[in-house]
Amino acid sequence: MKRHVILIGAPGSGKGTQASFLVKNHGYKHVSTGDLLRAEISKKSVLGLEVKAVMDKGELVSDEQVLKLLEANLNLEKNVYIFDGYPRNLAQAQSLGDRILKGSEFITIYFEIDTTGLVARLTNRRTCKDCGAIYNLLSQPMKVNGQCDNCGGKNILHRDDDKEDVIKNRMNVYNNAIQPVLDFYNSKSKLVRLSAESPIEELREKIVGIISN
Ligand code: AMP
Repeated sequence: MKRHVILIGAPGSGKGTQASFLVKNHGYKHVSTGDLLRAEISKKSVLGLEVKAVMDKGELVSDEQVLKLLEANLNLEKNVYIFDGYPRNLAQAQSLGDRILKGSEFITIYFEIDTTGLVARLTNRRTCKDCGAIYNLLSQPMKVNGQCDNCGGKNILHRDDDKEDVIKNRMNVYNNAIQPVLDFYNSKSKLVRLSAESPIEELREKIVGIISN
């Protein structure tokens, strides 16, 4: 039986790119709390209207709001998940265990990276609104500018929070809250550290090795 996979890493460390590969080739379902929240904003739901300003500043949405949204979108009986962007602090790590996974097997993979280089990576990040494919104008551009290589869609987004001052705040928020999460999983022997500075394919192979164990 496959274990759920929790990806932890700074914004822009490559979690989303690796998650798409695992979904395509290894049968996981991807759950990104950032994507779920952005979908609420697009729908202009009550939650979406409440969280927009918080997200635009790069701050964290409240633990309870994110947890409820997650609970409403998961089916643990049917699917094996890759958690991307959750948990982001110790309280969320505890809720994930107690209220969502409830004893299901999982492994946590930590994408270790120096966050100073990530600002440039994120200002150049673009995402396909239709299929979620991620591009970087410098290192991984679309073959035809403005058109997704994967699905041909033309809704290529520059996220509102991928702007320099907001990115810097998101890095601070991440760095301030993540250490207790790492300690928590490490103390349960559930943490595998990977260098996210490695090339995408190398990282991919290492992750496949970890999830197959
Ligand atoms: P991401 O797409 O993971 O970079 O998340 C974008 C933004 O969504 C973050 O800067 C937060 O404002 C919000 N967000 C995403 N996941 C969480 C979470 N687990 N807890 C609180 N806020 C979150």
